Amino acid sequence: MSLYEMPISALKGFGKTRAELFSKLNIHSVGELLRFYPRTYSLWGEVTPISEVVNGEKYLIKARVCSAVSTVRISGGRILSKVQVSDDSGVIELTFFNNKYISSMLKFSQEYYFYGKVNRDLYGFSMTSPEFKRGDEISSITPVYNLTHGLTNRVVINAVKQAIPLLPDTMVDPLPYDILSRYDLCTLRFALENIHFPTDENALNKARKRLIFEEFLVLNLGLRLLKKRKLENTSCSMPEDFTKEFIESLPYTLTNAQKNAVVDCVNDMKNKKSPMNRLVQGDVGSGKTAVAAAVCYNTVKNGYQAAFMAPTEILATQHYENLSKMFEPFNIRVDMLIGSMTKSQKDKVRERLLSGETDIVVGTHALITESTKFSELGCAITDEQHRFGVEQRSKLAQKGEKPHVLVLSATPIPRTLGLIIYGDLDITCIDELPPGRQPVKTMMIDTKKRERALGFIREELEHGRQCYIVCPLVEEGELELESAENYAAELMLSSFADYPVGILHGKMKAKDKDEVMERFVKGEISILVSTTVIEVGVDVKNASVMMIENADRFGLSQLHQLRGRVGRGEHKSYCILVSDNKSEDTKKRLSTMCRTNNGFEIADEDLRLRGPGDFFGNRQHGLPQLNIADFSDMDSLRATQSASDEILKKSPDLSDDALKGLRAMVKLLWRNIENGAMN
Ligand code: ADP
Ligand code: MG
Repeated sequence: MSLYEMPISALKGFGKTRAELFSKLNIHSVGELLRFYPRTYSLWGEVTPISEVVNGEKYLIKARVCSAVSTVRISGGRILSKVQVSDDSGVIELTFFNNKYISSMLKFSQEYYFYGKVNRDLYGFSMTSPEFKRGDEISSITPVYNLTHGLTNRVVINAVKQAIPLLPDTMVDPLPYDILSRYDLCTLRFALENIHFPTDENALNKARKRLIFEEFLVLNLGLRLLKKRKLENTSCSMPEDFTKEFIESLPYTLTNAQKNAVVDCVNDMKNKKSPMNRLVQGDVGSGKTAVAAAVCYNTVKNGYQAAFMAPTEILATQHYENLSKMFEPFNIRVDMLIGSMTKSQKDKVRERLLSGETDIVVGTHALITESTKFSELGCAITDEQHRFGVEQRSKLAQKGEKPHVLVLSATPIPRTLGLIIYGDLDITCIDELPPGRQPVKTMMIDTKKRERALGFIREELEHGRQCYIVCPLVEEGELELESAENYAAELMLSSFADYPVGILHGKMKAKDKDEVMERFVKGEISILVSTTVIEVGVDVKNASVMMIENADRFGLSQLHQLRGRVGRGEHKSYCILVSDNKSEDTKKRLSTMCRTNNGFEIADEDLRLRGPGDFFGNRQHGLPQLNIADFSDMDSLRATQSASDEILKKSPDLSDDALKGLRAMVKLLWRNIENGAMN
């Protein structure tokens, strides 16, 4: 019987109540108990010789029992037990209250660790109710578990102590032997024993290393098998590549990176068996729209419809205008579907979609509403994917019969993380900007220089340019609106009385935001003050300056995103980072921004400096909770990546007998997420 099938109530001392407490921690079986790793460890610390203890302090001593345990009843019917213990340097008395078992637990002349507070009285030193464990349990490291109300650490420890000997003698290690040896990992048995009761720090580290590796490996394999499973579906066949004629029709030459991205997509679409499932990642301004357009063209020419979904109306409108222009020469019908259109306008577009009259539709969430139906959707494209959940992405795809799926993202994430976050997608990076693009000149200043910066902005405005100001992020308790409005008001009163200023903040309705943005796009607003991240992807070629207040409060990747709003036209553009934070860390981060315009380089640096929290925090990645590993542990991530490469190369579906245990764990991982869909 597997320990996962043995209910926890099979352990001694487990009544219904106790079992219920454990089930609150999601522990129902002995197997799950063993996988319930300690939250942390209490290091009892260094052993102190008895002769060196001082009144009132806590100590760990290691001593032998050198007297019989004497037990007396004291007032209130309580039991007081006393026993003397000694080490090479001295003797100390231990007292315990109300523990009938002390005399059987502490054996004469045996050695134990005792941990507790030392008191001094007339008779010398004593320790009251110390914690203790046998001296041959070399370690002084005690596991500390996450608890639930009504459950003590000691109860969990005792349960785990019972569970460990139940591990079968011939235990199957889910990690195959060659992986263990190549990556210098301990066996599962050693890991489980030592993650709970480490013999020493070294053993604990070994155990952790192994369990972290295992957790990442299972996750990694799970994601990759998931991807494979998706690929097994058949889909719209698009045997021919028509992209050449389209690319030639563009007013510019595609960069090599763009060309490669198109080739990747076309190859995916030609594959008769499986739909494309690709993420094209490229820095702001790298020209992802043209790649998407080529894919649309190819889709239409192969006889299908394409849908292009953007997160906001303004972005959808911009794409619609661009695509309409691009497809004008080809007799291809492009339509738009966004929420703010009138019902009859929308109805007409929907009719044309259903009849197949429309070839390409650009839109917002309106595309995934029930009433939107396609005649034959062949390709579903999502722009700025981080703004959509995985669910919405797949909703669009469900509008067709296993259509090809293309996802565009301007948020560069380091490759190692990408493999995890977008585990179900193939990834292409556009790592090159169109020629002649001038990098945005970036500088950092403190608030003393703000006046000068405003003067500079004024000059730009006088030359007809526009400007973004990202105003102080709101502190907790502050009103965002007020802060933005105050800031804008101050600007209007002081330096920029004669220029139209617009405000954009997070509490505004989407419609109002779009309206302000629209006016900025049209040039009716010269300065856009914003507390919120300005719409990703919107192209305002005339905007040449961005000033970011409290720049230190943003992550590098966020700053890079913000900065990407400028430098989109032929005008030399600037980004001014304002911060009074003088810490080394801030200086380092902001100077990275000044040094480079390369989003991937910045993402790597961000990852190095701040960990992956930002990358994971901002998106619904739908990954399972990690038990022991931590996504910031890039070394382990990389190691498991290559281990899973090796494993899948040998056995693409984990059907190999040696991988039985691993296969079971991968199944277990997706059980909750996928409702057993993985077989
Ligand atoms: P993003 O990748 O941020 O979505 P866009 O697709 O909006 O970038 O492209 C940014 C700008 O660059 C657009 O104005 C587009 O017309 C232009 N562009 C795209 N590709 C090229 C190219 N190969 N050469 C010159 N300009 C290009
Ligand atoms: Mg874009």
